Amino acid sequence: MSVVELLKEKIRQEGRVISDDILKVDSFLNHQIDPILMLKVGEEFACRFAGSGITKVLTVEASGIAVALMTGLCLKVPVVFAKKKQPSTMEGDTYCGRVRSFTKEEVIDIVVAGSYLGPEDRVLIIDDFLASGEAARGLLKIIDQAGATLVGIGTVIEKVFQSGGETLREQGIRVESLVQIGSLAGGQVEFLN
Ligand code: 5GP
Repeated sequence: MSVVELLKEKIRQEGRVISDDILKVDSFLNHQIDPILMLKVGEEFACRFAGSGITKVLTVEASGIAVALMTGLCLKVPVVFAKKKQPSTMEGDTYCGRVRSFTKEEVIDIVVAGSYLGPEDRVLIIDDFLASGEAARGLLKIIDQAGATLVGIGTVIEKVFQSGGETLREQGIRVESLVQIGSLAGGQVEFLN
């Protein structure tokens, strides 16, 4: 079975529709993590973005890290995750982006130390979900500040009924989502792929 079919099967069996716009997948992606499935996800992203000269994978803590790590492992490049709070140990220049959290309904400043991204980097953004595109836009700001080049965005689940993916693609950004959801209305997950 392809990784896309495996993910859809997991969502069918274990996903819970919390509201018309939120899907809970805590049993394999957001709380408990299925490492074998995550490795397959990483292989798929590495395959889709092969030959793009990626030097870094970038995500936001915490739920993007597992997928990003597996993708970095398969691409054999380092993984950087933006922190949601600047720790006192972070020294020197930093890059910042403001993100409105979709699930937590709060605004946070995400931060990456200047030493881990630079103008020589070709960056792949990886995340678990793509909804309104806020997290991606915060990461784009960080890539911009670093003078790095964006190669594309990979997301495990895209909720196509929210505007994030469409807006990013309209900007000419390559967005690869493994599972596309057209609707969660009435507690039903409607897949588009
Ligand atoms: P966006 O910034 O694109 O609106 O939302 C992306 C972020 O919000 C993801 O990193 C993810 O953590 C969270 N998120 C968005 N929609 C969902 C959802 O339906 N379920 C879960 N579990 N997280 C979501």
